[in-house]
Amino acid sequence: MTLTIHIIDMLHIEDNYSFVLRDEASRKVAVIDPPEAKGVLEALAHEGWQLDYILNTHHHWDHVNGNIKLKVATGAQVVGNAADAHRIPGIDIKLQVGEAFALGESVAEIIAISGHTIGHIAYYFTADKAVFCGDTLFPMGCGRLFEGTPEQMVVSIGKLMALPDDTRIYCGHEYALSNAKFALSVDSNNKDLQERMRQVQELRNIGEPTVPTTVADEKRTNPFVRAGSDVERFAQLRALKNDFRG
Ligand code: ZN
Ligand code: FE
Repeated sequence: MTLTIHIIDMLHIEDNYSFVLRDEASRKVAVIDPPEAKGVLEALAHEGWQLDYILNTHHHWDHVNGNIKLKVATGAQVVGNAADAHRIPGIDIKLQVGEAFALGESVAEIIAISGHTIGHIAYYFTADKAVFCGDTLFPMGCGRLFEGTPEQMVVSIGKLMALPDDTRIYCGHEYALSNAKFALSVDSNNKDLQERMRQVQELRNIGEPTVPTTVADEKRTNPFVRAGSDVERFAQLRALKNDFRG
């Protein structure tokens, strides 16, 4: 593996996670979706890393609010979807979907995953089988549809699930516990899901993240994934989840 990835706990902001990663061959460093600068700068100082890029998956404030401060503090370049350039603060490198982004020798495919927002992208580092998917998919859940349609979200989730089963999925929030409660409410006989609920509870009890998840784990336990290409079922689940109080 050529990437070292650290999770930055920013749970004090909307239960967010940010990530810092370094390509070991070139020592190029990136941060994914910084909600603020402070925690990122602390993590970089702790590792002794210098920031080269700020990668955004989508424009929501809890994913881009640290862009400008980090850019000023480190000289890093802001990277995002060209289609979202008007709403990504400080954007320098405007990516086209389907294009590749090189963090040194680690190359990420840019995958279009609209649904949570239009213009949402994922960064899939192919050699490491690590994908950063922002607010599209979470352990046992998926993002709310702020801008996109159920059809778009089903297609986007399908793209993530088409990646290799052992792909690690890095998500933008710690939502696993409430997602697991909802998932059990609609898929109560799923043994893998029951077991996963226990694992998630154990992790959260000791303050450990449930991220990253994997493609294989989501296929077994995520009701939104298990709806497959059934858009109606997906939309029904999404509506139920929006009103769910676990
Ligand atoms: Zn969002
Ligand atoms: Fe978010």
